[in-house]
Amino acid sequence: MAIRIFNDLTRQKEEFVPLEPGKVRFYNCGPTVYGYFHIGNGRSFVAADAIRRYLMYRGYKVTFVQNFTDIDDKMINRANERGITVKQLADEMVAAYFEDVKGLGVLPADIHPKATELIPEQIAMIQELIDQGYAYAVEGGDVYFRVTKKLDYGKLSRKNLDDLLAGASERVDPDDRKEHPFDFALWKGQKPGEPAWEAPWGAGRPGWHIECSAMARKYLGETIDLHGGGEDLLFPHHENEIAQSEACNHQPFSKYWVHNAFLNIEGEKMSKSKNNFFTVRDILKEYEGEVVRLYLLNAHYRTQLDFRRELVDQTKGALERMRNTVSNLQHIVQSAEVKDLTPDEAQVLGELSQARQRFVEAMDDDFNTAGGISVLFELVREINSRVQQGASAGLAQGALDLLKELADVLGLLQGAFEAKADLDAEVQALVDARQAARKGKNFAEADRLRNQLNDMGIILEDTPQGVRWKRK
Ligand SMILES: [Zn+2]
Repeated sequence: MAIRIFNDLTRQKEEFVPLEPGKVRFYNCGPTVYGYFHIGNGRSFVAADAIRRYLMYRGYKVTFVQNFTDIDDKMINRANERGITVKQLADEMVAAYFEDVKGLGVLPADIHPKATELIPEQIAMIQELIDQGYAYAVEGGDVYFRVTKKLDYGKLSRKNLDDLLAGASERVDPDDRKEHPFDFALWKGQKPGEPAWEAPWGAGRPGWHIECSAMARKYLGETIDLHGGGEDLLFPHHENEIAQSEACNHQPFSKYWVHNAFLNIEGEKMSKSKNNFFTVRDILKEYEGEVVRLYLLNAHYRTQLDFRRELVDQTKGALERMRNTVSNLQHIVQSAEVKDLTPDEAQVLGELSQARQRFVEAMDDDFNTAGGISVLFELVREINSRVQQGASAGLAQGALDLLKELADVLGLLQGAFEAKADLDAEVQALVDARQAARKGKNFAEADRLRNQLNDMGIILEDTPQGVRWKRK
């Protein structure tokens, strides 16, 4: 029993075997922080988060690194438009990133390096590439990667240089300082007014691709287990990361590559000109984050997903039903007359627990979250029919634990379990206050508290063991 992963490098589903048993080094390309990220990027962050959580659930110690690109042309242009520094723009948008992904239930990475914090590492890597003949500096202080020297250039995207040239005659940058039109920039010489750092071949700033190669090497090593990102990054960004890292380190860069598919909006490609370009920030004004997360995960990451409001609304109902089940189980745990599982109930719990196996089978199949979610829905239906009023607290708690275990892997129902715990503490505090009031013979206050609890749907029972409470 092992996880099988569709590896874009080999275009096959393969058994997932990390380099070091029990450990996973996972790098995912993060955002360029010039503005709020869009829902397509949101899908990519949620997909990587689900993969990471599942690897952890399966017992791996995962080191997850995701970068912030905080220096590039878009950053410089946007900062100029807004009349602020690139650093101010980056700080604002990094903070916004954390707020927005939190809304989607995405855990922070173990390390979130910023490109500008690793300039020496990037310069060192570029120098190593120059020393080995894989890169060359030109007039103006730019440094380019020599694609013709990397004989397997194009292996991820399955493009060779001849095909690329034939297919891209108009797009090719006709810079005659470059030896080959597909040579790409590792370093960009400083232009007037731009932020710049000193380097042996002249002041300037790193290119986008080198940032990920340098960060992956610094935090995860020369060879990593898993590299992710949106399918739009496969070429040229990931192809170039591979070329740089492998040329420099003489080691395979990443054992497995995963890319999530695009997201359309109401059947159409997202674009600013069609006025259907939505940031996650916009969408979270319209929908609760967990609804959006459930919707995004309810399709396998490799399939194209259509963001349709009608369907998102249905997701809202489905999530509400799951939450009701949580709430019902919590109520039974609180109010059940019988505490311990009966033998029949132990049988029921055993049968419910088979969902765990079905869930793992679904998720082992290339992180099929859609399959995992349908197991979760089935489990909820089964619980609703088999764990009802009159069940023991033990059975309800067992069902609750099972549901929480599987929902946690997908990062779902987070509020449902927590909100109730807070609420229970609040109820208990009011019950205690009422007891204290009665002891102090302050009956008016005790009655007021009883009424307040009654309004919250709480029934109090005086028993020989003291006051017990339950939900109506
Ligand atoms: Zn990257």
